[in-house]
Amino acid sequence: ATPTAVMVGTGVAASHGILIKGADALERAHRIRTIVFDKTGTLTRGKPVVTDVRLFDTEASLNEVMHLAAALEVQSEHPLASAVINFAAEGLGYGQQRVGGGAKVSASAKGAATSQARRLDWVRPAKDVLSIAGKGVLGWVVAGPELSRSPIKPKEGPQDAKVVLGNKQMMADEGIPISKAVDDYMRDMEAKCCTCVMVAVGAAIVAVLAVTDPLKPEARGVVAALARRGLAVHLVTGDNWRTARAIAEQLAIINVCAECLPGAKADKIRQLQGSKKVVAMVGDGVNDSPALAAADVGIAVGSGTDIAIEAADYVLMRDDLEDVLVAIDLSRKTFNRIR
Ligand code: ADP
Ligand code: MG
Repeated sequence: ATPTAVMVGTGVAASHGILIKGADALERAHRIRTIVFDKTGTLTRGKPVVTDVRLFDTEASLNEVMHLAAALEVQSEHPLASAVINFAAEGLGYGQQRVGGGAKVSASAKGAATSQARRLDWVRPAKDVLSIAGKGVLGWVVAGPELSRSPIKPKEGPQDAKVVLGNKQMMADEGIPISKAVDDYMRDMEAKCCTCVMVAVGAAIVAVLAVTDPLKPEARGVVAALARRGLAVHLVTGDNWRTARAIAEQLAIINVCAECLPGAKADKIRQLQGSKKVVAMVGDGVNDSPALAAADVGIAVGSGTDIAIEAADYVLMRDDLEDVLVAIDLSRKTFNRIR
C-alpha cells in the first residue's frame, strides 16, 4: 500500500472513532487468522445486575446480608461490585439516591463510576478489605445498628464478622464448604448465563447472588461475520466454565477458555500464536492488558481502562463491536486483500 492509502485508511478509521497506533498496526489487521474476545465488558455490556438471590442456612434477613455484601463491595472496582451495591441500595430503600435518577445512571455509568455516582452513606465500609483478582473480596464488618439484632452471629470476635464474597476458588481458598443446595442453585443459574457470587459469614455461606450481564446487541452478528471472513473466534474469561459455555453457546463460539487469571489470558494468546497464526485480542479491562500486549493486534473496546488502552494497537472509542469488523475490513481494503 502507498503512504497515501495508509493515510486514507487511518482517516476513515478515525471517522469511525477507531484509533490506530501506527501504519504497522493497520497492516497487521488484514493478516489476523484468530480473534480472541474477553467476555465481561467486551461481549457483554459490562453493566451486570443482580437478577436473583437465595439465602441458605441462615435466619438473617436479605437486608442484613446485603448490608454485609455492600460493606465489602464498596471497596472493590469490579463490575460485579456495582451490581451488588445497586441491588443492596434498592432493597434497602436507597434506590432514590441515584444521581440523575432512574435507569439513566446504570445505563451511562460503568463499574466504579456507578458506585461513585450514588450516595453511599448507608454503607458502613468493612475493615481490612482484600480484593483477590479473579476470585472475590473479603473483609471484616463491624456490627452496627443495622446488624445489632442480627441473627448473623459473628464467630471471630465480640464485634466483628468475617465476610467473604466471591466464586468457588475464593471459598476453596478460605476453607468454606459449599453445600449441595448451594451448588445445585448455582448450577441452575450458571446454565442461564448468570455469574454467581457467594456470600459467606464466618465459615458458612449465607447467600448466593445471581448476576446477569446481558450481551451487547451486536455481539452475535459480529462473531458470525468474523467466522464468515474465515477467522477462528475464541472466548477467554475469568468467569466460571458453566457461565462461559452458556454465553459462548448464545454466540455460536466453540473455543472457550474460562477461569483464566490475567496471566492465563496472555498465555492463551501465546499458545494460539504458537501455530504461526496472527492473533488478535479484543478486551476492555485491566485484566486484559497482558493479553492485549501479547497479541499481534490488541484491540481495546469502549472507553475501556487506561491500562487496556495503553496496551492496545487499536482503540475503539465507540463501545460498538461492529468497529472490529470495520477495522479488519479497512486493513484488508488498504492492503488489497479483500476476499
Ligand atoms: P472477567 O474476565 O470476566 O472480567 P475477572 O477475572 O475480573 O473476570 O473475575 C473473575 C471472577 O472473579 C468473577 O466472575 C467473580 O466470580 C470473581 N470476582 C472478582 N472480583 C469480585 C468481586 N469484587 N465480587 C465478587 N466476585 C468477584
Ligand atoms: Mg472485561
